[in-house]
Amino acid sequence: MADSPTPKDAAAVILLRPETDPNNPEVFWAKRSTKLTFLGGLYAFSGGQKEASDVEARVSNCDDHERAAMISCAARELFEEVGVLLARGSQTLTVGQRASLLDDLESKRVSWPELLRHYGLHLDATDFTFVGRWVTPPFAPRRFDTWFFLANCPPKQEPRVTPDSELESGAWIAAREAHEKWKRSEVVAVPPVLHALGTLTGGLTSDLVERFLSVPEAQREPTRRIEFYPNYICFPVRTPTKPPATHTNCYLIYTTEEFLIVDPGSPYEDEQAALAKCVDDLISEGRTVREIVLTHVHPDHVAGVNALNDHLRKKHGVRVPVGAHRRTAESLKGQFDVDRFIEDDDLVILDGYPVISLRALHTPGHARGHLCFHDERTGALLSGDNIVGFGSVLIDPPEGNMRDYLASLERMRALRNLSVLFGGHGPAIANPYEKIDEYIAHRRQREGLILAAVREGASTPKEIVVRAYTDVSPKAHAMAERAVLAHLEMLEADGMVATDSDGNYSACQNRER
Ligand SMILES: [Zn+2]
Repeated sequence: MADSPTPKDAAAVILLRPETDPNNPEVFWAKRSTKLTFLGGLYAFSGGQKEASDVEARVSNCDDHERAAMISCAARELFEEVGVLLARGSQTLTVGQRASLLDDLESKRVSWPELLRHYGLHLDATDFTFVGRWVTPPFAPRRFDTWFFLANCPPKQEPRVTPDSELESGAWIAAREAHEKWKRSEVVAVPPVLHALGTLTGGLTSDLVERFLSVPEAQREPTRRIEFYPNYICFPVRTPTKPPATHTNCYLIYTTEEFLIVDPGSPYEDEQAALAKCVDDLISEGRTVREIVLTHVHPDHVAGVNALNDHLRKKHGVRVPVGAHRRTAESLKGQFDVDRFIEDDDLVILDGYPVISLRALHTPGHARGHLCFHDERTGALLSGDNIVGFGSVLIDPPEGNMRDYLASLERMRALRNLSVLFGGHGPAIANPYEKIDEYIAHRRQREGLILAAVREGASTPKEIVVRAYTDVSPKAHAMAERAVLAHLEMLEADGMVATDSDGNYSACQNRER
């Protein structure tokens, strides 16, 4: 089993607008570029990973070296990403001088500590109010231990997203309005950002810092219940899944009256208990469980079904029906019964508020009975293992089929109002169309490499992998051979390659693709 990556030190600044209304404070928030493969399209504050030289910057009023380094990191990221220089002495610099400083820093002509020193600037810890440390849950490809600081934007400085930052756009917004936007499913954000917005909605009160720090997650306790989007809880559970992933996302989709549980996949008792606790919480708030729904047959998506139903029977005296595609049900025979077959285009409608209605899409390719669920009102799509937020999708014949998979991706791409993808692994994907395009392009490119390898004389999946998967570690070659087989099946059906009686592949002549 793979270990999840160790969190890296990072810092972020929650920037308050100068002279902001303490009863309705405004912050600067930014949308991450939709071109980013990690958390693209999500809303965030400016921040980033610590650099080695951050420790060398002078920070007054701070005896704690670690904290000083993180303040330095936060201030540097703020300057690099939105051009705000939160340093003592910077008020004498003109806009032009600040711009040329930024240019010096970005082009690496000077380091951050050198820049401060050279212009007689320094950082002051009292300008940066510590409001929590949040650790990325272990389900992400990149994990950070992020220090959040609240800071006032210096007067006469206007934050502006710099061209080569990871941010696409940014704006001042009342925290209350930003939080409302999230509640209306208009933005996707990570838990610490939502917590900050929610906390600031209560105003700049004397107990503000206390309120920021009042949740265990603000003190490095891993977030279990992640609500990137309202009413969709992403609850990653540890599973023996395919590396580099270590967790499978279980989703709990709720209204005021009911909720749906999608893919309770962990075979581990401690993880099953954590999920059961979350389910109990939703029940104790007056909801009933509508159904357990499965996206597909793989063990890391179904292994917790029996345990969850045992728990529900013992604790609440109910057995919850299980819904899945017919093909999934057939393969699960003997493990547990599927009570309801979900067909393509079926609707799963939850009673209560908000109205949540999910349209099932039969999207085979990764697995024969694979289902996605589309919320046509908000544009959320539960994409199962067809698109994931972390790692790659294995197409392993005969359960996997490359032609079906590509057709499923095209079908998902053609949906009109996609706003966010909730995959079976990794964080939410807030740049759905870019991500699906990336997946399709990746498969087409791989197909081209495989065909080229066959044309150059590689005749077995093993030989093909050596030529067409030079970017993949030899440890993953056995898995890559399965994917090659899936591509070869499709190429053979298209008349591009042929097999002889020994199962060796060769290229067909005069066929262009
Ligand atoms: Zn799977």
